[in-house]
Amino acid sequence: MQWEPVIGLEIHTQLATESKIFSGAATAFGAEPNTQACAVDLGLPGVLPVLNLSAVERAVRFGKAIGADIAERSVFARKNYFYPDLPKGYQISQYELPVVGKGAVEVVLDDGALKTIGVTRAHLEEDAGKSLHEDGRLGGGGQTGIDLNRAGTPLLEIVSEPDMRSSEEAVAYARKIHQLVRWIGISDGNMQEGSFRVDANISLRPKGEEKFGTRAEIKNINSFRFLQKAIEFEIERQTDILEDGGEVVQETRLYDAERDETRSMRSKEEANDYRYFPDPDLLPLEIDDAFIAAVTADLPELPDAMRHRFMQQFGISDYDAALLTASPAMAAYFETVAAACGDAKLAANWINGALAAALNKADLDIADSPVSAEDLAGLMARIKDNTISGKIAKQVFEAMWAGDGDADEVIAAKGLKQITDTGAIEAMIDEIIVDNPGQVAQYRAGKDKLFGFFVGQVMKQSQGKANPQQVNALLKEKLKG
Ligand code: ADP
Ligand code: MG
Repeated sequence: MQWEPVIGLEIHTQLATESKIFSGAATAFGAEPNTQACAVDLGLPGVLPVLNLSAVERAVRFGKAIGADIAERSVFARKNYFYPDLPKGYQISQYELPVVGKGAVEVVLDDGALKTIGVTRAHLEEDAGKSLHEDGRLGGGGQTGIDLNRAGTPLLEIVSEPDMRSSEEAVAYARKIHQLVRWIGISDGNMQEGSFRVDANISLRPKGEEKFGTRAEIKNINSFRFLQKAIEFEIERQTDILEDGGEVVQETRLYDAERDETRSMRSKEEANDYRYFPDPDLLPLEIDDAFIAAVTADLPELPDAMRHRFMQQFGISDYDAALLTASPAMAAYFETVAAACGDAKLAANWINGALAAALNKADLDIADSPVSAEDLAGLMARIKDNTISGKIAKQVFEAMWAGDGDADEVIAAKGLKQITDTGAIEAMIDEIIVDNPGQVAQYRAGKDKLFGFFVGQVMKQSQGKANPQQVNALLKEKLKG
């Protein structure tokens, strides 16, 4: 039987506010354990939570960025459960009335195809603390300590529709949300520090069937590679069960990166296990049109809009435009090079080609590129005015990357200027004709394929510097005999 995967993601992104969602305690990462939790975060008797407006503002930013409706009135609810890192015995979240309603994002897949993925909702909530197992600073020797610094940190939980059908689509969607939250400045998206965590819900159904199958939820995945691997493992695991005539159990699983497998953690809890109820300490969150308008006016040009603009304005492909709008820094770099050299396609090819490869190899961000946008534009200019060929330009780029100077300096220092002097090229061709009488005779007798051989000889002789168009034209002329 052919099984079709159905995937929906829940993404927890930490909102980059200075203080917590319901208290004034700091949110900075990496402080000594339990130095950034106050009485409110611990839910001590007699304290009251006060909503942080910056967290609301960030949630609204996100909502507007995905074209969602913002709820005029949303409600904070208590989600009750016991866990050592949750001293209050409940988490403040939103349940029936979330602040952000239905929206959507568009992803570009590897083959260039576009797909729209629905976002069901996004709601504000607080993070819990963290259990540190055998951490030297807390406990140790087989003990577990609790660090409450993270308790009360604002999160936006973004819930997707079950619209994805492969691990590739799920990763593309997660990357898109990651790009977006950073782009609009609501989260640093730092996955190592836990600022962006993904839960993946996966089920299978017979291809052609409309009804969804039973899903498993894999919790807390903190890298795109693990997300892909966890989904792929889970698809295989469920396929084996179904092929054997068994049934998938609805449960929560954990991905173990070391063993590359998912493991059962607990049977899936139902919403009513949590005894959700409106938090009596917090008023409903009311957001008026003026607030929404102000937040909307403050949004930058969004990545999808910019991608479409790049395609129209510069005539580049969807795929290229998606790469060039990966981040605002990347987009700014491209626009600078394109404007300075006047050839956007050439700029796009170089940025997505040689530059991207070099950045990737050195594990560098575009902002830290040793070749600045101005310098790359300088190199493009020398290709365009025929000072060097595209092939020699690769060599010049490598030298620029290594810090040997700008394009003109490298070309001068290494003597890479293209040979465009007709006389000089003719002299080389004459010599090659004299040195290769056999090939010349064969060519003249009709073996056209040998033309490439002569081009190669001239390029070799000129160390790649002869202008290719001129070489072609002059060779044709001279080989006629
Ligand atoms: P819960 O609150 O119990 O986690 P939700 O109904 O809110 O459940 O869904 C959580 C996520 O699971 C959503 O992203 C949704 O798209 C996805 N999902 C729901 N049903 C399925 C299914 N049968 N297969 C795969 N994903 C699913
Ligand atoms: Mg869930």
